[in-house]
Amino acid sequence: MENTRKKLSIYWDELISKKIPSYVNFQKIEEEIKEHFGFLKWAFKRIVLPIVVAYILAGIFLFKTNVLGSLVIALIVFLYSNFLPDTDFLMKEKNSNIESKWYEKYALLFFAPVIIYYILDGRKKPFYTKKGKFFHNYKTVLIWGIFLFILGSILWQEPIKIAILPIFGMLGFSFHLIIDGRINNFLSKKLVKHFLHNNSPITSRRQAKV
Ligand SMILES: [Zn+2]
Repeated sequence: MENTRKKLSIYWDELISKKIPSYVNFQKIEEEIKEHFGFLKWAFKRIVLPIVVAYILAGIFLFKTNVLGSLVIALIVFLYSNFLPDTDFLMKEKNSNIESKWYEKYALLFFAPVIIYYILDGRKKPFYTKKGKFFHNYKTVLIWGIFLFILGSILWQEPIKIAILPIFGMLGFSFHLIIDGRINNFLSKKLVKHFLHNNSPITSRRQAKV
């Protein structure tokens, strides 16, 4: 396991980071993913699960419709949205006049897996932005929500099913921002810090070593 990790780390740093316009190394990404997963576990029981139960009950008693299929898709989108904001590390920060068009940047947000495939394949030019961390803000949460609302309207007719997709998508996206410490008034920084200190796999591993 440790060996595989090392190999993957070297592979990432030497091969992939040459292709993607990045100052990000494997260890940094690995640690960040761990932090986000840690918070996810904590928040799942307290926030996501109650919504899931309410959604199923509303489906059965209020709308008399089977909501399980849309729930599975919404949960996948939720998980995906937890990591989506970090795709903005694919944008090069430039002080000069080069800046990618807004629709190119949001294409990365909406169709990240496809765009990343083209970047790795060498067929996509790098993105340029003047503002770093382009997706790390409330505005992007809203834009992501609107996109998912449109997607939901294409997939379903029932309002309850259309609503669940943007709700979970925006929730997942916001969770990421909370961890990154961008949303201070919604959930206090202290709470996040307290949680990370006690539950983070990184800290507990460090503590185990001491
Ligand atoms: Zn982030």
